[in-house]
Amino acid sequence: MVIRLYRVVVPLLWLAGVAEGMPDPSQRDLLMREEALRQTGGRVVLTATELKLDARLHRLKEKELSAAQFPPAVHFFRAKPLIQESPIFKMLQRMPKGGALHIHSSALVSVEWLVKNVTYRPHCYICFTWDNSIRFLFSARQPAPRWDCFYWQLLETLRAKVGDPTGFDNSLMQHLTLFTEDPEGEYTSQEVVWQKFEKAFLAAAGLITHAPVLRDYIYRGLTELQLDNIMYLELRSGLSKTYELDGTVHEKVWSLKTFREVTKQFMADHPDFLGARIIISVHRAMSLSKVKEAVEEAIQLQKDFPDVVAGFDLVGREDSGRTLWYFREALSIPAATGAALPYFFHAGETDDEGTDVDQNILDALLFNTTRIGHGYALAHHPLAREISRKRNVAVELCPISNQVLKLVSDLRNHPAVTLISEGHPMVISSDDPSLFGTTGLSYDFYEAFVGIGGLKANLGTLKELALNSIKYSSLPTHLKETGYAMWQKKWEAFISEYL
Ligand SMILES: [Zn+2]
Repeated sequence: MVIRLYRVVVPLLWLAGVAEGMPDPSQRDLLMREEALRQTGGRVVLTATELKLDARLHRLKEKELSAAQFPPAVHFFRAKPLIQESPIFKMLQRMPKGGALHIHSSALVSVEWLVKNVTYRPHCYICFTWDNSIRFLFSARQPAPRWDCFYWQLLETLRAKVGDPTGFDNSLMQHLTLFTEDPEGEYTSQEVVWQKFEKAFLAAAGLITHAPVLRDYIYRGLTELQLDNIMYLELRSGLSKTYELDGTVHEKVWSLKTFREVTKQFMADHPDFLGARIIISVHRAMSLSKVKEAVEEAIQLQKDFPDVVAGFDLVGREDSGRTLWYFREALSIPAATGAALPYFFHAGETDDEGTDVDQNILDALLFNTTRIGHGYALAHHPLAREISRKRNVAVELCPISNQVLKLVSDLRNHPAVTLISEGHPMVISSDDPSLFGTTGLSYDFYEAFVGIGGLKANLGTLKELALNSIKYSSLPTHLKETGYAMWQKKWEAFISEYL
């Protein structure tokens, strides 16, 4: 089928150059169909009922494109209420989306839950830092001053003192998220937005790393995903040490075991949830020797917890951090020692073409990365695109993250427009949902489907993107098969619900 069409098209292209007068409309149709076959989902054969839904989606998209404000062209913080009104978005919320393969553990759960639930627990202390940030700490007694925190106040007492607890809670949320009504005014450069980003992570840390909270946090995170019709998670996590009320500290293995236990519990409570795994992540600001240690430790943890540990990644801002090549000695350890440690590198989350950072994409492939986190710079790297396509190394596309962190403003101009048109291996994810004010994957699916995919992206595109999240996951083959079967059932229910 493919070859036959290709043979038709080659002389057509040649004819297009030499024919005189008006081109043949049927040849034009053929060309357009051939091109549509190449896009993500272009070869997905839709059933009669799916085609009906597809036609409806197309009409809805046309309507949104001609509206006064097209949400993907607007900053997400302003576009969010518009998107919530969109019938396409509502459909995407109902759609089974498969797995979320690129989410960071500190930003998994909505800040509303952190503030309204976690900070209301007893023994929660707060401290306001000199650089206008906050820290939390659970403690049985008044915490001692720290270098970053001189004065801890019991939150319960402070809340009772302030007259407006709702306003107070909202101000706490402001510290834990990037969300603001004036994103352009507040975040004037990538540096400014990344500073706030790192501050928000530090602010949330004291809450999430409290051992009893971590259990509930993971459960709540899985719940939020499931409510958005997601059935699987690969979570990037540094496996921070956790602490008890009396100051006892648990090591990484405790976090890993807790993650496994909570996931099992969640699956027992929700049999249509496929599971969750961890990609161990360390910050790229660390020294080479520390990253060497981290790689060795990850190899061991992967050996000890093969069902939970998917692999390894380096996180933090690429533009101001160390490159993959800088860490080459550390990253070569698995190959040199015959150990198996799959990599899931963030690479190419930059628009600085030609810099050392920009080379991360090719280096990620050199180190045999399993997927590419963001791959925003792939547009500049034809060879990397070719290798990643041939080796089936999927790109984890996180459109809202790219927009909020100021790589692109109008998502119609996102470089992934080319990747979608070419059917490049790809999954959609949300990166840091709580920081961007999103939940699950529906918002990112909306931006990718409506803004980046444009009118051409159709129900086949959505189907392929959802299936890709199982195909390109780190799951072993038999669990992928289970995942496909579970997803198919959900998909059929979704289609019949919508017709
Ligand atoms: Zn990320």
